[in-house]
Amino acid sequence: KEIAKLPKETLALWEKYGADESDDKESFQKSFIRHVTTTLARSIYNIDNFSAYQATAHSVRDRLINRWNETQQTHTEVDSKRVYYLSLEFLLGRSLDNALLNLGLKDNYGGGIKELGFTMEDVLDQEVDAALGNGGLGRLAACYMDSLATMDYPAWGYGLRYTYGIFQQRLKDGYQIEFPDYWLNFDNPWELPRLDVVVDVQFCGSVNRYTDEEGHKRYVWEGGDTLQAIAYDVPIPGYGTKNCINIRLWSSKPKRQFDLTRFNEGQYEQAVYEQMQAENITAVLYPNDNHMVGKELRLKQQYFWVAASLFDIVRRFKKSEKPWSDFPLQVAIQLNDTHPTLAIVELQRILVDLEGIGWDEAWAIVTQTFAFTNHTILPEAMERWPVPMIQYLLPRHMQIIFDINLFFLQKVEKAIPNNRDLLAKLSIIEESTPQFVRMAHLAIVGSHRVNGVAALHSELIKKTIFKDFIQFYGESKFENKTNGITPRRWLHQANPKLSELITETLGSKNWLKNLDLLKGLKSYVDNKDFRKRWVAAKLSNKVRLADYIQKATGIVVNSNALFDVQVKRIHEYKRQFMNILGVIHRYNTLKKMTSEERACVVHRVVIFGGKAAPGYYIAKLVIKLINSVADVVNNDNSIEDSLKVVFIPDYNVSVAEIIIPASDISQHISTAGTEASGTSNMKFVLNGGLILGTVDGANIEICEEIGDDNIFMFGNLAHQVDDLRHAHRYRNVPVDPSLQAVINDIESGQFGDSRIFAPLINTLTHGKDYYLISDDFQSYLDTQKLVDESYKDQEGWTTKSIMCSAHMGKFSSDRAIQEYADQIWEIKPVPVMTKKHI
Ligand code: PLP
Repeated sequence: KEIAKLPKETLALWEKYGADESDDKESFQKSFIRHVTTTLARSIYNIDNFSAYQATAHSVRDRLINRWNETQQTHTEVDSKRVYYLSLEFLLGRSLDNALLNLGLKDNYGGGIKELGFTMEDVLDQEVDAALGNGGLGRLAACYMDSLATMDYPAWGYGLRYTYGIFQQRLKDGYQIEFPDYWLNFDNPWELPRLDVVVDVQFCGSVNRYTDEEGHKRYVWEGGDTLQAIAYDVPIPGYGTKNCINIRLWSSKPKRQFDLTRFNEGQYEQAVYEQMQAENITAVLYPNDNHMVGKELRLKQQYFWVAASLFDIVRRFKKSEKPWSDFPLQVAIQLNDTHPTLAIVELQRILVDLEGIGWDEAWAIVTQTFAFTNHTILPEAMERWPVPMIQYLLPRHMQIIFDINLFFLQKVEKAIPNNRDLLAKLSIIEESTPQFVRMAHLAIVGSHRVNGVAALHSELIKKTIFKDFIQFYGESKFENKTNGITPRRWLHQANPKLSELITETLGSKNWLKNLDLLKGLKSYVDNKDFRKRWVAAKLSNKVRLADYIQKATGIVVNSNALFDVQVKRIHEYKRQFMNILGVIHRYNTLKKMTSEERACVVHRVVIFGGKAAPGYYIAKLVIKLINSVADVVNNDNSIEDSLKVVFIPDYNVSVAEIIIPASDISQHISTAGTEASGTSNMKFVLNGGLILGTVDGANIEICEEIGDDNIFMFGNLAHQVDDLRHAHRYRNVPVDPSLQAVINDIESGQFGDSRIFAPLINTLTHGKDYYLISDDFQSYLDTQKLVDESYKDQEGWTTKSIMCSAHMGKFSSDRAIQEYADQIWEIKPVPVMTKKHI
């Protein structure tokens, strides 16, 4: 409206000079040199690879900002329904290569930078990962943002701008040690600080009741501390579209409101210290994956993030001057796990306390707005917060939670009378001492939809943790949205050789936006030239990984060996322990062979990677055992290179991009029913790697798509797990004999002082073995044998590898996002309009 009032000449000037960044090689070179000299204050005499990276990044950033501006302008003009993805983690990794590819700049920039005296590879390698996440959940959020952008959806991500991302992992004497990840040490070109977008966030204080002019009882939350949230915007470009969406990350900042009495009383240092504490809310990402640690600071992070995000969402909605009843027609909010569940309470507070809307009307708006994704059924991961802690930090929210619970339980009582047991099971409040708030229950009650992340997981939540809710809600509120991955980063970017082959074979790059087109590869499965190039691409990725391994660990591996990979967070349920126990079995089998026998054996490189939570003692011991075994195996000349074991330190997104395309077989071997979905399994198969896996998570759906000839599945099934655990506990079942032999090897000191590993061995014996390693061990070894046999038939293996990729269309995050958009969010794409008054 205001633009329309401007004189024509003014508009013409904006048109003429606005955003004239072109994408050709010369324009890049011009902007590169301009950034070297002005942004970096350097010159041809003192520019190094890092500066070249920075200048390239700034040049790309300029183009991103143009697209980002046009996107925001279009979204404001069209003002259709938006989706807000609330995630406490965004594991983005590096941005430069991804932006170059998504914006279609890679060729021009690659050529341009070469002429300026650099190689694109060296430049790309300078970037530090944005590692604001632990593992699968955070990487999923990043893949979903890529798909939302690519599919032209009007979407926002909201998260926290941690000063320290996930810790850096180094190894000392085979043990993990943690170092802080101060990723913002240098300027970060991938964020736009919005120092003008500031939100006050309140903590503590008290709640007072008063009666308004119309005689209604109202509550006001007063006093306490106020912090400020500052917005940092991270542009996310779509592939082959102008759409460039935004992740808004909040950073905490002191509000210049010192407690003057403290200063007057001469307590300067104490007052400044407390002030600093308050500022530190967004300092660090909690490094736990699938594990709840009830620290007060974590709860503060959650509320800080939720309050700032909802303020922003509500402010944007209010600009449209639509009635409140339209809120759910304009706004969909997806809760990535229970971490943002306080958003439900915060919106109810805004509507009731600040906007004066009646409770029921407000609650209807809230529940139509939110949807909740559950990511785990592991009991130790379930978020519960002590009532007294919430009462202290967020007194009004605690009252609202009690009211939400009261009204919910009244409805249950009405629908299913006289069932006290059911009320206790469904209650948002756990009646322990102290009481706890069950965040998953609050998320279910406050959302219109709840989803699991793979078919089996979505069925299991209905039968286990949320079983009682089905009695009240029925099944229709609970659904499945199988996870997905973006083929842009996980094939096109990470595996350029294979991507090129696929594009040439299929005749276009359309498969990057429609992954089902990979099916077209099936008709080339017998084409000699195609097969040759397929194998060559894998080999060159293995050579690249072998180089990386040598640089990172000093270990030399043979690229012609079978590469067997397990990279993911170290966790008992993921059973890296079983893998290394299997390696010991293999090693001792090899040792017993004659040289002639060994000559017939498939050589293997077993590759591990992943971080253990710093406080997770058993997981850290698994890392130590892997490294102790590696030490012995890699230095044993008697087995003649038939086995190597490698632990690659500091697994992160950019390391994953090197490892995943190089895998022949990868292991996804969680105890059945424990891995909600997994996403790295999808990435490996998309890159033509086979899977050795349990009947768990998305492995099952991958098997359905690629066919059981092309996957190695083993182990007990989810429905057998309870009985097996029961048998361990009460029937004293003996340990599997092959496993017992391996335990004996460790206890004999074959891999160093066995006392170190006693706590680990203890998890298998004395009726424990909660993750059923003993029950699955023989089946695991047998299946490993099948893998060896299959690999000997290289032609057969290549066919499997091609068939794997060809059938992975379902696992594109585009498919997942399409389902969320159509079935939960009810949003439509908004194509970005061309330049106007930039
Ligand atoms: N960590 C990183 C860096 C990843 O890229 C991924 C997924 O590819 C994961 C963790 C999750 O792995 P998984 O699905 O095997 O748990």
